[in-house]
Amino acid sequence: MKLKNILKRKLLEGHYEQLFKYANDIIIIQDSDLKIVDVNNRALEAYGYTSKEMLGMDISLLLAPSIREQIPELKKYLDEVGTVFFVTTRIRKDGSEFQSEVSVRKIEIAGKKYYQSIGRDITKREEGAKALREAELKFRTIFDNATDGILLAQEGSRNFFLANKRICEMLGYTQEEICNLNVNDIHPKEALPYVSEQFDKQLRGETSIALDIPIQRKDRTTFYVDINSSPISFEGEKYLLGIFRDITERKKAEEKLRESYTFSDSILKTIPFGMDIVDESGTVLFLNDNLNRLFGKEAIGKKCWELFRDNKTQCSDCPLSRGINIGETEVYESHGVLGNRIFEIHHSGMIYEGKKAMLEIIQDITDRKKDEEELLLAKAKAEENDRLKTAFLNNISHEIRTPMNAIVGFCSLLNEPDIDSSTRQSYIDTIINSSDHLLSIITDIIHISNIEANIVKISRDEIHLNSLIKSLSEQFLPLSNEKNISLISKPGLSDMDSVINSDRTKLIQIISNLLNNAFKFTHKGQIKFGYKVKGKLLEFFVSDTGLGILEENNQKIFDRFYQVEDPVTQLYEGTGLGLTICKAYVELLGGEIRVTSTPGVGSTFYFTLPFEKSADKVKIALSSMKQTGFIFPEKKKILVAEDIDSNFKLIEYFLSGANVDVMRASNGKEAVKKCLADHTIDMVLMDIKMPIMDGYEATKVIRETDKNIPIIAETAYPDNVIKVIDNGCSGIITKPFNKEELLYTIKEFI
Ligand code: ADP
Repeated sequence: MKLKNILKRKLLEGHYEQLFKYANDIIIIQDSDLKIVDVNNRALEAYGYTSKEMLGMDISLLLAPSIREQIPELKKYLDEVGTVFFVTTRIRKDGSEFQSEVSVRKIEIAGKKYYQSIGRDITKREEGAKALREAELKFRTIFDNATDGILLAQEGSRNFFLANKRICEMLGYTQEEICNLNVNDIHPKEALPYVSEQFDKQLRGETSIALDIPIQRKDRTTFYVDINSSPISFEGEKYLLGIFRDITERKKAEEKLRESYTFSDSILKTIPFGMDIVDESGTVLFLNDNLNRLFGKEAIGKKCWELFRDNKTQCSDCPLSRGINIGETEVYESHGVLGNRIFEIHHSGMIYEGKKAMLEIIQDITDRKKDEEELLLAKAKAEENDRLKTAFLNNISHEIRTPMNAIVGFCSLLNEPDIDSSTRQSYIDTIINSSDHLLSIITDIIHISNIEANIVKISRDEIHLNSLIKSLSEQFLPLSNEKNISLISKPGLSDMDSVINSDRTKLIQIISNLLNNAFKFTHKGQIKFGYKVKGKLLEFFVSDTGLGILEENNQKIFDRFYQVEDPVTQLYEGTGLGLTICKAYVELLGGEIRVTSTPGVGSTFYFTLPFEKSADKVKIALSSMKQTGFIFPEKKKILVAEDIDSNFKLIEYFLSGANVDVMRASNGKEAVKKCLADHTIDMVLMDIKMPIMDGYEATKVIRETDKNIPIIAETAYPDNVIKVIDNGCSGIITKPFNKEELLYTIKEFI
């Protein structure tokens, strides 16, 4: 039995020894002085010492220095309580450290006090926990610092369960506040059906990207987000993970882009130019609205030379090779395209849809070009007019001085006491001729200024053309005899048929001017004049066998002041106004004037008038056509307002024999009084410059009572024309005037 017990004890001891030796924990036995008395294999392995090295070693050498200081206190506690548990840092033989979880117990073996420490290397476990902590921290950092907002919502309740910092910033809630909210709380009402639909879809397992969703902040303001959401499962629960991206900035940028697109689009639409883009091969890639309207949308894809020039192949002057280069710009004119219009084309190189291309801006400059040309012509004409005017002024002073010289000179000679009567008569003739010449120059100037002031009146007289031709023949007969040039007149209609309606005075002046020129520039041969019927027109002609005119001057001679600058023609008197007056009168009467001429052979001037036959042919009294012999069929009463006696006498003389009763007023006041007192007065001849009341004032006062009586102003200043008419005068006669002009002016208004 004793043996059996001894054996049993031996067996147990062996078993415990095995347990001690191979235990998985570090077991170290120390004596009361804390010297190691026994260690197991795990301890040797953990500390890297041999058992020889470890036995007898002070336990403190295995502990981190920071722990060593606490050993006396720990020992005291252990002796009192019997066991102590702590986590400490241990030091291996090689100096490295490891974490150990230790329990130390006070034990007694054979009445002696020992300390048994059982330790476990927890370095691995600590490392795992640390990694977990780090991973969580990492996740938190990422989660909170994500630039997008992240929300996790529960499936059933749709309550938020997790929110990152960004979504809190975006919505203005704290994380706790958000976790008390529901999906429906962060969207405006109108978005809820769509949000709910998306939620359901995602819970069916579909990932969804919802764009442009309105979302509401805590303060109820709204902004837009894109939400990328997907379902996730976590610890058996279903959640929806939503990633919210604030698209406010993107929307602003898009809005800006849209605005800038709308702006460019409206520019392209309204720009008053054509714009096109062609690629390197000349294919049309783009046309703006202006060109689209012209060519239609099907023009895109055509070659530019087909479209703009109707050419089958590339044009020889094609600017593509230059224009395609970026940075190269060019402006050129393109003629004869699109109905012969002129275009100004600006082109420059560009990149269009990733390809090298050429932008063309096309402006129709046909009208501008025409204006420019007209402006240049007008400028040349103005310069020419200016030059002619200067020449005219030089010439006119010569033209006026010549007859004036004769008048002044012969007038003083008339005072000589011992001149015989025939010499006196010849002086008087010269004075009269020079006065007539001077008067005709002044008359021409007056006519021209009336034409330019646009105040020439056209009358409609019944004219017996054949009588008029005959009368002019008689008038020019003395000149024809003097120059020994035969004058032949050729009427184109029978006497009975030659009665027309037109302005007699002007017709006479046109033909007289042409005949005067013909006589002036012809030295031998003949002058013919007359008219013939040409359809609905009457064509008058005056032909001569004189100097002739170079073709280049055929038009210019009708310009005012123009005289052919030729040493031969310049020897002749003249102002360069005669043909200008003819042209203006012919055109006022509805016709045209032209000349055909061969230098050295002669010239023929033609002018046309509408052929308006008079209804009452017989009524024309041939005698009435004689200008100087005109008599009013019924007696007329004319009031002459004239302060200067000699002027009044001259008028009285001119009117004698014309069946006119002449009354006189010596100033404006008297004229008003007489005119308003006598209603049988047919006309007032009103001098403008008079004492007491001038002609303007007198006319005004008469007009207050009598709107109809013809009042003809007499003035020496043609500039006053507009003022005269404004004050109520019916017409104007410019001083000096002759009998013929006076009679015809009166006849025009009575
Ligand atoms: P002028 O007072 O100089 O004659 P016109 O206007 O009547 O002015 O004529 C202009 C110019 O036309 C004349 O100076 C002259 O050079 C030319 N001319 C006019 N008529 C004739 C003609 N019958 N034969 C040759 N030249 C003429």
